[in-house]
Amino acid sequence: MVNRMEDMGKGLSKLIKERNLESQYDSLMKEVLRDEDVISFIEENREKLTDERIVRSYAKLYEYVQEKKKFQRKDGMMAPGYMPKLFMNFHVIDVTYVPTTELIAKQKENEIRERIHSMDMPKDVRNATLAKFELTDERREAVSEALDFIDSYLSDPKGFHKSLYLQGSFGVGKTYLLGALAHELAKNGYASTLMHFPSFAVEMKQSIGKNDMSEKLDMVKKSAILMLDDIGADSMSSWIRDDVLGVILQYRMQEQLPTFFSSNFDMKQLENEHLRTSQRGEEEPLKAKRIMERIRYLSKEIKMTGKNRRNG
Ligand code: ADP
Ligand code: MG
Repeated sequence: MVNRMEDMGKGLSKLIKERNLESQYDSLMKEVLRDEDVISFIEENREKLTDERIVRSYAKLYEYVQEKKKFQRKDGMMAPGYMPKLFMNFHVIDVTYVPTTELIAKQKENEIRERIHSMDMPKDVRNATLAKFELTDERREAVSEALDFIDSYLSDPKGFHKSLYLQGSFGVGKTYLLGALAHELAKNGYASTLMHFPSFAVEMKQSIGKNDMSEKLDMVKKSAILMLDDIGADSMSSWIRDDVLGVILQYRMQEQLPTFFSSNFDMKQLENEHLRTSQRGEEEPLKAKRIMERIRYLSKEIKMTGKNRRNG
């Protein structure tokens, strides 16, 4: 970009010479030299700048004033988010382009978001932050537990910390709280994987026998921080229960990795109504118990109540 600007400058002086546009050039430069930022820059650097050097910098000063105008209009900029700035380039004046504070903030926010791997999650969850979190009495406990988790995790990221099992009816904000938690952790440099468990189960089923299945399962089970959203929302086959969920939980327990859950059902209901009976109707209480043991080991059940926020 800078090179193109230079060419523009060179092109300008060439054009002026060729067409003998000296008088127009003079009036252009008068305008440039009336620019407040140009004036104060020249003043600041007056010791280093002879008149001849200022004249040699005209093309750059012209570029600066033009680009500043575009920047202020927020229109036609060569690099949106970058602001032109004058600087002394050895003996002459030059223009550089510096990122604006807004751009820096945006880039920082993007970096944070890149640490949150969301799989099949609703869009608004990606915008959830604890700062924007609307607190009600009903949510206070869950939020305070979330903050406690963050504190203890940040103080000892390698140690074991019980995560949360957020339980509550549809629309109380469980998923949103998981998103806000992931964002807060990401702000501190920690990556998490946030996934809609029923969609993941379908995806796993579809990739049975394909090579990438175990790869995907591996990736999920090894994520530094894992959040399984909406567990129990769909009926689970024995295979999903034992060979997908069971495998993930077993690994996370062994490795002591933070694992969050959200569910419309409490732990008892999850066990008895969703994990216990296979799709073929067989009772498998021991297998259900084994999964629940792992969930209980990894997380603490927190009840969230409140109105359904989805319908205003
Ligand atoms: P759940 O997962 O419990 O069914 P969601 O987390 O999807 O509920 O929340 C329902 C809706 O309310 C979403 O649109 C979400 O963006 C919004 N929401 C939930 N909690 C909050 C909150 N604390 N502050 C602002 N918006 C929220
Ligand atoms: Mg949800």
